[in-house]
Amino acid sequence: MTVTTPTDRPIAIFGGTFNPIHHGHLRSAIELVELLGLERLHLMPSALPPHREAPGCPAERRADMVALAVAGESHLVCDRRELARSGPSWSIDSLVELRAEYGAARSLCLVMGCDAVLGLESWHRWQELLDFAHIVVIARPGWQFPESGTIADWQRQHRLADAASLGQAPAGGVLLLELRQLAISSTEIRDLRRAGRSSRYLLPDPVLDYIEKFQLYTDADH
Ligand code: ATP
Repeated sequence: MTVTTPTDRPIAIFGGTFNPIHHGHLRSAIELVELLGLERLHLMPSALPPHREAPGCPAERRADMVALAVAGESHLVCDRRELARSGPSWSIDSLVELRAEYGAARSLCLVMGCDAVLGLESWHRWQELLDFAHIVVIARPGWQFPESGTIADWQRQHRLADAASLGQAPAGGVLLLELRQLAISSTEIRDLRRAGRSSRYLLPDPVLDYIEKFQLYTDADH
């Protein structure tokens, strides 16, 4: 049986393709831990992202890079659960599992960038996500949260005033958050590599070494 107390700090889940993980993801992760007072943030690579072309880089390699990037950071963990499931990596399935693991009382927060939330309506059982977790939307350079439409209405209906509200209920709220914005994308890193240019300082050195060692992103498919 899972035992929780009202003093348990929130847990966050930050999913993505992480192809590869970069300092935009990592800086956001650290700031989330501090701003939200998280006990732990799960970085969760998607094995088979349902809403985009399957990445050429295998999920195990992408997860290895996440693990290398967070080594030594006690609040950040690489969560490989989506690699263990077959079929598309639906976030709702991971949230159901995490809710069972952490118990009904724990505050769970699903984190997504502003670009990701724009496609939320196409996610499997998207309206049930808030039954299992809060959703924290982080700003990203070049993207605006919609001012009208289904997602804007949904956000208004569930909006949380501040980060402290996340700890007051286990799930059900939507928080918009401005963190330090770093204009870095995995696409740009893959493109730099294919062009024979350096992406050093956009991502951790151990991840760069791993890319070099396994000769990742060297053809147009990755
Ligand atoms: P790609 O360029 O391949 O689309 P990406 O850089 O957007 O990749 P993903 O792994 O797709 O990275 O993103 C995972 C999550 O991280 C998404 O919710 C995305 O919005 C968010 N994210 C990605 N880059 C940043 C960034 N620089 N700042 C804040 N959030 C980011």
